[in-house]
Amino acid sequence: MNLKDYIAKVDNYPEEGIIFRDITPLMANGEAFKEATQQIVNYAKELGADVVVGPEARGFIVGCPVAYALEIGFVPVRKKGKLPREIIEVDYSLEYGSNTLTMHKDALIPGQKVLITDDLLATGGTIKATIDLVEALGGVVVGCAFLIELEDLNGRDKIAGYDIKTLMTY
Ligand code: 5GP
Repeated sequence: MNLKDYIAKVDNYPEEGIIFRDITPLMANGEAFKEATQQIVNYAKELGADVVVGPEARGFIVGCPVAYALEIGFVPVRKKGKLPREIIEVDYSLEYGSNTLTMHKDALIPGQKVLITDDLLATGGTIKATIDLVEALGGVVVGCAFLIELEDLNGRDKIAGYDIKTLMTY
């Protein structure tokens, strides 16, 4: 199965000149979603991950079935104002302006081996902020898994030294 058959290319979304890679056809196809999930499950097993962490919202879609299959926990990273209890936060810059991501202060046990999941690696800002949060809580990032990597944006450079798995590249 070629997973790329299930990624839709959307020109000029969300802005003129941007090519958006839409993962919803992959999610909507049982076989393709299972295949993508299984590849990340195998990666997580190799790493010996004991918890999955993912940023909202598509990091949940990728990470939750992986956590379920491995019978380990899933911890959400959310935008500021969404988590109900005591949080830690980190700011990161976007092309225009900035964003704040948060985690519950007690979300990880120090020393836990963390696999981070998201749908797509672009500039690496989101994954870098997520790594910073996990490490601030004492988690050990053993790997980062993405369905898609946009190679031209060099997101890998922002997280040099971390283990990265991507299922498709553009
Ligand atoms: P980065 O922080 O690496 O620049 O951007 C990655 C984040 O933006 C991911 O959380 C991802 O969900 C979202 N993103 C950016 N571009 C795309 C895209 O073309 N398709 C999808 N599905 N998500 C994108």
